[in-house]
Amino acid sequence: MTDLRVQLAQANHILFDQGVLDAFGHVSVRSEERADRFLLARNMAPVLVTPEDVQEYDLDGETDGPASSYLERFIHAEIYRARPDVQAVVHSHSASVIPFGLSSTPLRAVFHMAGFLVDGVARFEIRDVAGDATDLLVRDARLGAALAASLGQAPFALMRGHGSVAVAPSLPLAVYRAVYAEENAALQLRGLPLADVDYLTPGEGRAAAQTNAGQVARAWDMWLRLAGRHESLRSA
Ligand code: MN
Repeated sequence: MTDLRVQLAQANHILFDQGVLDAFGHVSVRSEERADRFLLARNMAPVLVTPEDVQEYDLDGETDGPASSYLERFIHAEIYRARPDVQAVVHSHSASVIPFGLSSTPLRAVFHMAGFLVDGVARFEIRDVAGDATDLLVRDARLGAALAASLGQAPFALMRGHGSVAVAPSLPLAVYRAVYAEENAALQLRGLPLADVDYLTPGEGRAAAQTNAGQVARAWDMWLRLAGRHESLRSA
């Protein structure tokens, strides 16, 4: 069994290598020992995260770790508070998802790899809770709670003008969902100009999601090897 801090560092590297995270965005995992704690890297670029950079947080977003924290740690804290089923959270600004946050065109499952999207794509509008002059960041518990309320029971939420959140009952599955939500968005953008676009039905999406959930380790093992090509960045 891989130590959770090691696995979280690996998740950071995979999400960078797969183009979901860049210098920004973050991934967290709920503590195995305490349901009211979660693990998150200190404020740094995901590709550079090592297990030693991981700090433990409570559901108020507080840590006794020595290093500075991500401004948006409240995304994670408030989702863990609201969703006992969620074990991992990815927050990203991945590019293809952004247009769907701006438009009334819904993000929908266009292929089996993103079947989980039939269980709901939520929308978070920060203007509804904080007006029209914020920096768009979820920088306190109130905004985090509003995001968690918008997410509801969905596996994915769009954040208008900002990015998205993917959640799951395991860390590998949250990584999988973040990767394939981005892929699905890119494919949907290519499909939208075509005539008579059809989407997965709820039944197809759920059946595909169930099948794919049993195959996540296959993707994780490959993604981890691919992410190894950035190892030199961490030893520099
Ligand atoms: Mn952000």
